[in-house]
Amino acid sequence: MIESGVTVRVKRQAMGCDWELILCGGDRGYLLDAADEAFEEVQRLEEQLSIFVPTSEVSYINALAASQPVCVEPRLFGLIESAARISGETEGAFDITAGSLVDLWRSAEAGVPPSEAIATALDSCGMHKVALDSENRTIRFSHPDTRLNLGAIGKGYAVYQVAELLRERGINNGLIHAGRSTVYALGNPPDDDAWTVGIANPTKPGERIGTAKLKDKAISTSGSHERFVEIDGVRYSHIIDPRTGWPAEGLLSVCVITDDPAESDALSTAFFVLGRDKAEKYCSNHEDISAILVSEGVEITRIGMEVFS
Ligand code: AMP
Ligand code: MG
Repeated sequence: MIESGVTVRVKRQAMGCDWELILCGGDRGYLLDAADEAFEEVQRLEEQLSIFVPTSEVSYINALAASQPVCVEPRLFGLIESAARISGETEGAFDITAGSLVDLWRSAEAGVPPSEAIATALDSCGMHKVALDSENRTIRFSHPDTRLNLGAIGKGYAVYQVAELLRERGINNGLIHAGRSTVYALGNPPDDDAWTVGIANPTKPGERIGTAKLKDKAISTSGSHERFVEIDGVRYSHIIDPRTGWPAEGLLSVCVITDDPAESDALSTAFFVLGRDKAEKYCSNHEDISAILVSEGVEITRIGMEVFS
């Protein structure tokens, strides 16, 4: 049983960003040990999921799944199945098979990729090119150049695993930050009934456009103000529309709030691609999801407003 009284704050670098854990409980040493364990888990997940780690399980899948079915670790298989579901629900706007397109645009500083290169990369994308066999837990690609990229869901999934680990250790109050992209509010802070999380203004670093009050909920943000590629003076988003092969346009940032941090991470990316009207339509069919969208001209749309101010 953990009594209340102590709060610890621990920061580490992982998955290419600054993580922070704020943990509340009764014993400082116990909380610090749990934070260490949590960061070991994040490290382990990075080594499993990253396409930048040549020995990761995802790199292994990418190298082999076009030539043979590849057996996948159970939790990662579940994540890929969730990604496939979200892809289907968002008309393919969220697509973990967009790896070839993402790579093409990431290395495009010298100029907009030729249309033939975009068409070739597009040809390898789409969840229908991925066969998931849930009985044998295998994955197989039907196209030789299909590449998984979990960049839009992996951090949220790691946040989910950290929240589970903390709950298993009896820690039910804290805040988990994976950079600015996903934040999970575990329970509430000692002096309030929910955590207050600021929502950044995408055009003015350091300024907020509002706050959200969260308890046992995740918030994820996608935007192009921090990560983009500049070609001939034009900024292109790092988020690609897998239907056209071009970087997504129209929104400056999207925040999504839901119970599951992997889902909020995936949906913030998906809504960035879908745009305001389709994001609103998605939320009208999913009442547990709230969102805040900022369009060009800093026009703000709030969906599911009860948690925002
Ligand atoms: P996020 O910052 O969570 O919105 O994720 C963006 C990252 O996911 C990009 O840097 C790419 O690595 C990858 N990505 C880009 N576009 C998509 C997309 N439409 N669906 C899934 N992943 C994407
Ligand atoms: Mg995301």
